[in-house]
Amino acid sequence: MSCSAVASEEWRIVTTTTIGFALFATRWLQAPLYFGLVAAQGVYVYKFFYELWTLLVRCVSGQATETYVMLAVLKLVDVVMIANLLIMVIVGGYETFVSRIGLQGHRDQPEWLSHVNSNVLKVKLATAIVGISSVHLLQMFVDVHHTSHHSLLWGTVIHMAFIASAAILAYMSGPMAAHRAADHAPHKGDRGQGTGTDAAPTAAVTAAVCSVPIPAQASAPHPAIDANANVHANADAGTEARVRAAGFPARKLLEDFDEEYPRAFDRETVARLGKLDFVAARRNVVFVGPPGTGKTHLAVGLGVRACQAGHSVRFATAAEWAARLAGAQDAGRLAEELAVLDDHALLIVDEVGYTPFQAETAALFFQLVAHRYERASLIVTSDRPLGRWDEIFGGPSALAMVDRLAHHVELVRIDGDSYRMRRATSAWAE
Ligand code: ADP
Ligand code: MG
Repeated sequence: MSCSAVASEEWRIVTTTTIGFALFATRWLQAPLYFGLVAAQGVYVYKFFYELWTLLVRCVSGQATETYVMLAVLKLVDVVMIANLLIMVIVGGYETFVSRIGLQGHRDQPEWLSHVNSNVLKVKLATAIVGISSVHLLQMFVDVHHTSHHSLLWGTVIHMAFIASAAILAYMSGPMAAHRAADHAPHKGDRGQGTGTDAAPTAAVTAAVCSVPIPAQASAPHPAIDANANVHANADAGTEARVRAAGFPARKLLEDFDEEYPRAFDRETVARLGKLDFVAARRNVVFVGPPGTGKTHLAVGLGVRACQAGHSVRFATAAEWAARLAGAQDAGRLAEELAVLDDHALLIVDEVGYTPFQAETAALFFQLVAHRYERASLIVTSDRPLGRWDEIFGGPSALAMVDRLAHHVELVRIDGDSYRMRRATSAWAE
């Protein structure tokens, strides 16, 4: 390619990305709209207390009949439901269409916000509208003597129309999308299919819109979650059930991991692991690094991906696994317990090394690792390099275990400062 051709190609790339970025920046035009909705929320707060005050005054002055009280309470419920709807639109809409709010880890983060997308929002809104319209309908029936037949009839018809449209929306973003994903998914083999709930997701799960967003793939897409399926993020109706069953401490996604933050980090290996070949190959992964560098985050991120690809996953800390295995051993059913764990294509053992283990516990871990050797995958996180695991497990069982674990292992070393400290320091700075 000649110099001028290269220059014009570069110019084309620069202009297209600049135009794209400029268009994308226009999303901020929406921001004031959300503040407008916050003002509307204020109006509802005022309305609520006005209605409440009127109700109290009427009750105290003895003018309130039973029907009146019921209607007034329904009106209050109605106002609260509309306020809920508003907050859903404000927070969900802002997060989806304008900018991340960054509530991760906040005590009050709504459960749905971590997997909100426009589909989830639509269904949530539709169900909220059905709730509101049922309150209205109930008000009409309670006050049936003052409601015309015409209003009753239309109230019922409109309510039915809301129900039908909510059901259609839920269907479109639930089972139908799942069906589309199933077309994309590879044939799921005989392992890692998890429990019956995975195979037959409940209506509740489907209604929850089954929607852990499928993260952007690192490079070559995994066939189960290729670029097309990405659009149908909530495609797999079983994903939500599998993620819940896995027992992750929090939903962490690989693409939320800031690769620039750690001082040293093997991004290629993690990108490759994100394609989940290690699960198919029954290999292990060990994340090693100082506290707070994101080992658990990455382990959970891989776990969530495995769930999305149809694998059954179980997460627990090393201490929890130790307690579980010790319990099984005490009950004389360790072999059965290990066999039960075979149902899960991936086990995550978090925080190995935080506390040294007794010899019996170390032996149990050895059994777990030995049992899964070439049979199913493990992800282990530890703040100590494998070479120092004798300090955790003591003596020969450490050596034998590291040998088994390390034979088919992808070792990811992370180095850097604690991300928790970063957040603490920036909070202080602010
Ligand atoms: P570790 O298991 O290594 O002690 P965690 O995975 O528990 O660390 O990370 C602590 C917190 O910091 C978590 O909330 C995690 O999501 C976050 N975190 C750590 N590293 C990163 C990173 N590089 N990018 C985004 N979040 C991070
Ligand atoms: Mg951790």
